[in-house]
Amino acid sequence: MPDDLTERLARLIETNGPISVAQYMAEANAHYYGTRDPLGAAGDFVTAPEISQMFGELVGLWLADLWQRAGAPERACYVELGPGRGTLAADALRAMKMAGLRPEVHFVETSPALRAAQRARVPDAVWHDDVSTVPEDAPLLIVANEFFDALPARQLLASEEGWHERLVDWRDGRFVPVAGPRIPAPLAPAEAGTIVETSPASVAIVRELARRLAEQGGAALIVDYGHVRSGTGDTLQAVEKHGFADPWEQPGARDLTVHVDFEALRKAAAGVALAGPTTQGEWLKEMGIEVRAALLAKAAPARAEEIMAAKERLVAADQMGELFKVLALRAESWPEPAGFA
Ligand code: SAH
Repeated sequence: MPDDLTERLARLIETNGPISVAQYMAEANAHYYGTRDPLGAAGDFVTAPEISQMFGELVGLWLADLWQRAGAPERACYVELGPGRGTLAADALRAMKMAGLRPEVHFVETSPALRAAQRARVPDAVWHDDVSTVPEDAPLLIVANEFFDALPARQLLASEEGWHERLVDWRDGRFVPVAGPRIPAPLAPAEAGTIVETSPASVAIVRELARRLAEQGGAALIVDYGHVRSGTGDTLQAVEKHGFADPWEQPGARDLTVHVDFEALRKAAAGVALAGPTTQGEWLKEMGIEVRAALLAKAAPARAEEIMAAKERLVAADQMGELFKVLALRAESWPEPAGFA
């Protein structure tokens, strides 16, 4: 029996014709995140803040250091996009407090299930459906970890004739990606079959964040898996129960992501200063994760091995250290951030 979303999308396609990959991804993820907490060992995937408290603490220290060197403005807003279970925020806020920073907390989150989890950890947060309603009259301390990869991406497909929007059709009881009509694309001709991804939603959000930072002051830290240069290739993937699954099956039941194009995000960040992208491993080491891990291990010898293993998972090149990248935006009037040697 097809579930609700499969049936709804199949009907939609039968009635109106194939839908864009971006619409397919948007519908699938809205359903997926809206109906569950996908994080943790019992869920579908594990993120850096769920691996170790060190991740959120170092993010908090990074923000507190910038804030201090920017003259410690009395009012500041911590803004997190897609905060998951609120773990990163709770760890970062604790570290910020030790540094004398107690910002207002604003979460941009669409999932009711995850909002509930966030409320349990950070009860005094204010929730927003998108960034447009975040306060306009204070510096912003913005964090987004594994947020942009979940936003809907378009795929463009090259043929002998030019570029086509890649669409999703419903044929013989299955979703199938197909070439749609030719579209004008600002892209050089490419070999037939080449796929280029763009993320209009990500570009729009980064533009808005950059505009806000330029006007209000502050900084943003964006962490995600992806590539430093724009490239070609289909990176759409589905993850379920800690393994890869078919993205064209059971939309809404598995996490759909694409690799983040950091070059495109940099280009979208007009009017602000940029640092990075660097790798997550390098950034965490620059931020002192080795010392932090050693201190934690010393304070809790029984957990020393676990702490060191978590640190390795975050920084090792063959784990999260290389694939994940860190990009910082800041108001031109704010100081250079730490972590980008
Ligand atoms: N940052 C968290 C969770 C990553 S999962 C962590 O590192 O553990 C992606 C998060 O983004 C979830 O909280 C999900 O509900 C949220 N999200 C996905 N699409 C969104 C959208 N369009 N607007 C706001 N939040 C979104």
